[in-house]
Amino acid sequence: MSDEQLAWDFDALTEDGKVTDPVVQKSRNASRGQAAAPSESTEHTDSAAHTDSTNHEESAESTKHTAQDAPAAQPGSDEWISALKPTDSDAERLTLLDVTTLTPARAARLWARVSAWVESDQIAYYVNDAPTSSDAAYDNRMNTLKRLEAAFPELDDPQSPTHRVGGQVSSDFASVRHPSRMLSLDDVFSYDEIRGWYDGVRQDLDWPQGKPLPMTCEVKIDGLALNLIYRNGVLEQGLTRGDGVIGEDITPNVRTIATIPQNLQGSAEDIPELVEIRGEVFMRFDTFRALNEQQEQMGHVPFANPRNAAAGSLRQKDPRVTASRHLSFYAHGIGRLVWGADASPSHEEIKDQSQAYDLYTTWGVPVSPHNRKVSTFDEIIDMVEYYGEHRDDIEHALDGIVIKVDDLALQRRLGATSRAPRWGIAYKYPPEDVNTKLLDIIVQVGRTGRVTPVAVLDPVYVAGSTVSHATLHNAEVVKMKNLLIGDTVIVHKAGDVIPEIVGPVLALRESNPDLREFIMPTTCPSCGATLAPEREGDVDIRCPNIESCPAQLTQRVINLASRKALDIEHLGEQAAIALTNPEEDRPISVAAYCPDTKEIKVAPGEEPKPYVPEAGLELPAMQTPVMSSEADLFALTAEQLRDVRVWREIPIVEVRTVIDPTTGKKREVRRKRGMSGLWRQVRAFYNAPSKGQTESDAEPSKNTLAMLDEIKAARSAELWRVLVALSIRSVGPPTARILASAFGSLDALANATVEELAEVDTIGDQKATVIHEWFEHAKDPQDWRGRILAAWRLAGVGTAAVEASTLPQTLEGKIIVVTGTVDGYSREEVKEAIQNRGGKATGSVSKKTTVVVTGTAPGAAKVTKAEALGIPMIDQSQFAHLLETGEFTATAQ
Ligand SMILES: [Zn+2]
Repeated sequence: MSDEQLAWDFDALTEDGKVTDPVVQKSRNASRGQAAAPSESTEHTDSAAHTDSTNHEESAESTKHTAQDAPAAQPGSDEWISALKPTDSDAERLTLLDVTTLTPARAARLWARVSAWVESDQIAYYVNDAPTSSDAAYDNRMNTLKRLEAAFPELDDPQSPTHRVGGQVSSDFASVRHPSRMLSLDDVFSYDEIRGWYDGVRQDLDWPQGKPLPMTCEVKIDGLALNLIYRNGVLEQGLTRGDGVIGEDITPNVRTIATIPQNLQGSAEDIPELVEIRGEVFMRFDTFRALNEQQEQMGHVPFANPRNAAAGSLRQKDPRVTASRHLSFYAHGIGRLVWGADASPSHEEIKDQSQAYDLYTTWGVPVSPHNRKVSTFDEIIDMVEYYGEHRDDIEHALDGIVIKVDDLALQRRLGATSRAPRWGIAYKYPPEDVNTKLLDIIVQVGRTGRVTPVAVLDPVYVAGSTVSHATLHNAEVVKMKNLLIGDTVIVHKAGDVIPEIVGPVLALRESNPDLREFIMPTTCPSCGATLAPEREGDVDIRCPNIESCPAQLTQRVINLASRKALDIEHLGEQAAIALTNPEEDRPISVAAYCPDTKEIKVAPGEEPKPYVPEAGLELPAMQTPVMSSEADLFALTAEQLRDVRVWREIPIVEVRTVIDPTTGKKREVRRKRGMSGLWRQVRAFYNAPSKGQTESDAEPSKNTLAMLDEIKAARSAELWRVLVALSIRSVGPPTARILASAFGSLDALANATVEELAEVDTIGDQKATVIHEWFEHAKDPQDWRGRILAAWRLAGVGTAAVEASTLPQTLEGKIIVVTGTVDGYSREEVKEAIQNRGGKATGSVSKKTTVVVTGTAPGAAKVTKAEALGIPMIDQSQFAHLLETGEFTATAQ
């Protein structure tokens, strides 16, 4: 990645649009002692670790001490300062130090060390809500900082933690010089270029033919480069890459990243005086998906890809926001490394890159699990091919493979050009940007009625699948991107993420006379109602037809059938669409309608032939949905579902004929290549009639019969489930349970006054008003809410007796965090099981947590946090025992 690209990304991603000039800003380092010192030597490149124990600014006294000891050296000496630990006793020791006796250089060193701890305490307390130090230790450190700043006014920087109240961080990111330059590797795009680099390296090193050359192959994470500066084991600063020489100080935000240690693990002799750890901050795919779901729920524009999300999250003015985004980090390089006088002699030299990674692991710094050691060209290509095929299968987005000569002495021999080191190279996978035609811009209606423009594209194959649609979020975005219908546009798609339209190819626009502007419709495309913003000034416009707008109804039906509501297992998203909005995916013209074709077969490397519909072919008639309100649910019959058809996109299947080596017979190997952009209709609820049968012989599918049975059974669902199913705003399962046990029946609840509702535990005035209003409207049989309630009552819904938990309250007063999946339980069921026994099930680990249960694939952040806080952990085999007795034996801590 070139510096230019990086600079562009940063500008684009500063959320408030403000671009800071790194050169004119006051350096925060001025008050940070050594961290401020520019690299004395320019030959130390990105990965050129070197050992250097002679560059103290003052020669250290020779008093020896061991790692376990509290500082035994002369208080205030260099050794005393570096041996300080973030313990209560050392914090106490600080209060006894007369800071006025320190030299300015030592005062700066002590300030840097103590302020790092104070800052990480502030983040832990105010941002992560999980303090890691005692109040006394925090106060002692804070007082020491204040005394230092009083005695040495040059240390009194506006960025100092002494100036922060309630964890507030100054809104400007200071520009800071990296102790050694962060170079970036040259990019190559073909195997030939990798070969060229590989041969060049062997030649430059005079490497004997046939002798393996040890190298590392690493997955190139599509994230943001970060430089972590640890002094005597304490994380002092986290800097963005910036231009490689000067980066931005984002330390408070970096401290919120759970996997980045605040203090390196290990004894004093294994901790260097200074180390720069380079790596990549990124957002995992699963975190990214959850974040975007949340963004959409809150009516915000989702992030285009994990990289944008990570960048936007890392450069937040408020570390609380960064903390909430759950970023991850893998180390992949080493900058300056200086071992102190106390270091074990075995550390004198780090010989190779992989040894540095091993060292990181012992310090508790995460390293990518995908790294490989290789020694031949073929092994490099194996790695490139493997991850080329598995781009979407690992936890994060990747855009290439980085190859480095492992031996650091060899790295130094190879050196660097003015731009990039010669000892490494980055292979980039084929571009994920393609050009295609913007055929149209249509609008879609979301679950809350929000209307979003969607680009209809000439289907194009990019990054593993065919893209035919891309969201444009709102009319402002269409304007901002300067799009005209008919433009050739650049489509970007990386791996598993939402395809995004970057912008039009303006050069091609001039030659195209058939362009038209997009006009946001004034009526709902799903139901025809007049659209309007919910509140004045909103960018988004909404469909106000809450009751029977098919698009909104679909989402509410999905909600009512979910596990947290009526639990109608066979009524999922597909069935909900078929019931409420079967024309959802109807093609806009007959050109994309391809009846009676299940798949389009192609030979390897071949593109499908352009599709031309038969002369006279017409789109089938529009269907009227079987359900136009939730009121219809309990009256559904199999007969009503007979003719419901939904639209399915036709896949492209690659078929290769191979000869089986064992049998010698020909065999077809099929692989789904992507989607064709062509559509056909299929029955939603009935099996197709078999040969010789007529249409009227068709039978409902097994799933359909199961769905109807489950709907019937849902009539006797518990009251709280019924309340969740009604989609009353702010009534989720916890509130619904409280209401159900307080009122006992639907009638009692419907007749409750606002005051009676507000009196109920945790309901409060606001919710009470919303709930009361809903039931008031429901009293009108003409109102949509009234129709639902009347129909459901008629079906006998909501009359089942409330079941208070009769289980022994074994978990009373206990706060339990379950991470990962527990065999035999869904996420909801785990929660329920805990709550039914009087316990509290929460999603985040804090000091108050009683125990953490780790299931299959537990969250790394939670485990790390539990370890850091010393919260006992048990594995899922003990879960049943815990429920039954409330007792557990910690398996790990
Ligand atoms: Zn509508």
